[in-house]
Order: sequence, then structure tokens, then C-alpha cells
Amino acid sequence: MSRHTARILAIGDELLLGRTVDTNSAFLARWCADRGLTVTGVQILGDDEATLVAAIKAAASASDLVLVTGGLGPTEDDRTRHALAGAMGAKLEASARAWNQIERYWGKLRPGPVPVSNKRQALMPVGARVLKNDRGTAPGMLGQVQGAWIACMPGVPHEMFAMAERLSTQLPRLIPGLRVPEVGEVHFAGLGESSAQDQLGALLSPGPVQVGITAHELGHITVRVVGSATAVRKRCAAVRNILKPYLLPEAGLAPSLVAVLTKRGQTITSAESCTCGAIAGMLGAVPGCSAVLQEALVAYHNEVKAGYLGVSAVDLKRHGAVSEQVVAQMARGALARSGASLALATSGIAGPDGGTRAKPVGTVWMAAALGSRVVTRHSHIRGDRSRVQQRAAASALLLGWQLLTGAV
Ligand code: AMP
Ligand code: MG
Repeated sequence: MSRHTARILAIGDELLLGRTVDTNSAFLARWCADRGLTVTGVQILGDDEATLVAAIKAAASASDLVLVTGGLGPTEDDRTRHALAGAMGAKLEASARAWNQIERYWGKLRPGPVPVSNKRQALMPVGARVLKNDRGTAPGMLGQVQGAWIACMPGVPHEMFAMAERLSTQLPRLIPGLRVPEVGEVHFAGLGESSAQDQLGALLSPGPVQVGITAHELGHITVRVVGSATAVRKRCAAVRNILKPYLLPEAGLAPSLVAVLTKRGQTITSAESCTCGAIAGMLGAVPGCSAVLQEALVAYHNEVKAGYLGVSAVDLKRHGAVSEQVVAQMARGALARSGASLALATSGIAGPDGGTRAKPVGTVWMAAALGSRVVTRHSHIRGDRSRVQQRAAASALLLGWQLLTGAV
């Protein structure tokens, strides 16, 4: 089977300065992988025209498709359209089609004429096609350099997503013979990556299939299998068989909890101190969560823990808010208060201040309550405030998942 390749160029001085995180490349890398394109390189570049011309030419000589994002704004510093013209050896001319699109988009946005500076966005290299942008003023461009297709898309992520989606429909015509690969994924949680490696052994080795394992920051792990349909099915079944106690039905803890609770007609609530609503946020990000999430409480201050959740003032004083006793009472109180089937609670020290010798920053207690059962877990999470909060929320979801499925 011939291999079709792609290169990704993310353009913008703000990316090189670390002011904006290059999320577009990650999106596009996945976009390529899902469509049968092997990404052979990702490059971040500043808004320097000569550098961009050289980079586009180099990428074109080594791949079938070059995906470029950024540098299509209305200001002088954005140079991607000039760079594409340079790499194509073509003149840059005002395109009536591109201008039309800009006017139409602007007309839907507000009354009055399009600002003069947007005229720059209608400049296209002669011979390039316009890629429609229905979410912003920057039209994309599709040109050819040394036989490779170069697709230039806006830097604004949601504009680029929509354009890339539309570009997908053109792929079979642009790159004949491109085959969408068969991909199987097995998601699990509650078993570490190295233990999974030990248990799965040769099942993680390539053979008739390619296999990869990824530990996600939010607590679950994915085994990804690529190959022929039969081989993928066989390998995934074997992996599932070994990981049975740890399997998740969905790609993540929150989606898995929502799916299983929905199926059982049950509900969930959270009482969150250090995570400040992150658990509810993760559940709320799952489409359809309204079937299972009715309410959640941020119980930051001790008065709230005592007043709303019935945590004993004596225990708060004796053990401190970050303690097993308190977090267990928070979960029990949340269950009683809300009438939900499953309650999750957290209490910890997110930092950067507030740590002590006995309870350093990153100390988190979690609890899950289901019926009359309450389980607790202690964790010491390293990293900054945001990571402590995110990991604590993910760990609470895992504890809830394990209680719900009988694993604890
Ligand atoms: P531009 O198309 O260069 O005008 O980019 C517009 C905006 O999109 C920038 O100000 C960034 O906030 C955002 N952006 C550009 N490139 C990226 C990228 N690779 N990943 C995420 N956001 C980006
Ligand atoms: Mg820019």
C-alpha cells in the first residue's frame, strides 16, 4: 500500500513567543491520521515571508499535502498569502471570488462597508483556489507547489476546523488512492501504563497491525490499533479480554459515567472544594449530561461545608478541611441534599500557597458515595494549581466510576 504523507506548518510570531499554544497542529495531525495521511513533520514558524517561502517549498518537495494555518489576517504582519505566491512563483492578485466571500460574511455581521484593510485578505496567488470561510473574513487558499497541494487556512481555530472539514470532501480528488485506515480504540482506567504493558505484553507489539498506547492527562488510557478491518477487530478483542476489569465504554471517565448512569436511569452530583466545579465542568462537557447531572455545589468555605453539606464543625476543626473525615461527610451530605444516586467530593490544597509539612501543596482527599457506601482516596498531585485541580477532578471521577462499577 502506498504511503501518502502530509506536513503541517503553524504560522505566527505569537506561537514562537509562547503567547499562543499551537493547538491547530494537534487538530490537523489527528485530521490527517483519521484520513489515511501520514504526518512526517510539524513546524512552527514566525511571520517572516522569506522563511515561509522556503518552508513551503521544502515541505512540498517531501509530501503530498502541506497544511498551513495562520498568517491570513487583515494586517501587514500576516504574510502567508505572499509566501504561498512566492512558493508557487505566481503573482498576487485581488480575487473577486474571495472579495465576494468577505463582503457576504461582513454583511451578515454588521451594517456598513467592509474596512479597507480587509481588502488585503482578498489577495490570492494566481492559480490558487479559494477555500471558503463561513466563520470569518479570511478566505483560505489551495495552491500547488512541485506537485504537492498546499492548503492555507486561518489561524483562528474554529474557522480552521470548519475549513478543514470542507477540505476533507476534496481529498479523494486531490490525492487519488488515499485510503481511510481502519482504527480501533480500547479505553480503560484504573490501571497504570506500565502495568498495562506488563499485562498486555505482545499485544502491544506491531505485527499485522500498528499499536500505540496513550495515557491521557485526565486519567484514562487508550490503546489504538490501526490496520486491516479483521486484524484490528481481532487485536482489539484480545486487548479488551485482558483489560476487562478496567474497560471504559467511552473515550474518557466523564463520558463513561454519563453513559452508564443514563443507561441505569441514575444521577450524579458533586460537592467540590479544591476543584471548584471542575468535576461538574467535565461532566457538563459531555453531550447529554443533563440526563444525569442535576446540580453541583462548590463548597469552598468551611461554613458552606457545614451549612449546606452537614459536615461536622468538630471534625472540620479537629482534622482540617483537607481530611478523609471531611471529604467523606461532604460526599454523604451531597447525596442527601441532592437526592442523586452518586456523589463525588474533593478537598485539597491546590497551591501555590497553603501547604504545610503534614499537608503539602497537591494533597487531595476524594470521596464517592453511592447508597450507603462511601469510599475515599488520598492523592498527592504534583504540578501547578491548574494541574492539581484538573487531576483531582479526574481522580474523583475515577473513584466514582470504580464505585459505580463495583471495582472498589
Ligand atoms: P492569524 O490567522 O495569523 O491572524 O491568527 C489569528 C489568531 O488565531 C491568532 O491571534 C491566534 O490567537 C490564533 N492562532 C493562530 N495560530 C494558531 C495555532 N497554531 N493554534 C492555536 N491558535 C492559533
Ligand atoms: Mg498571525
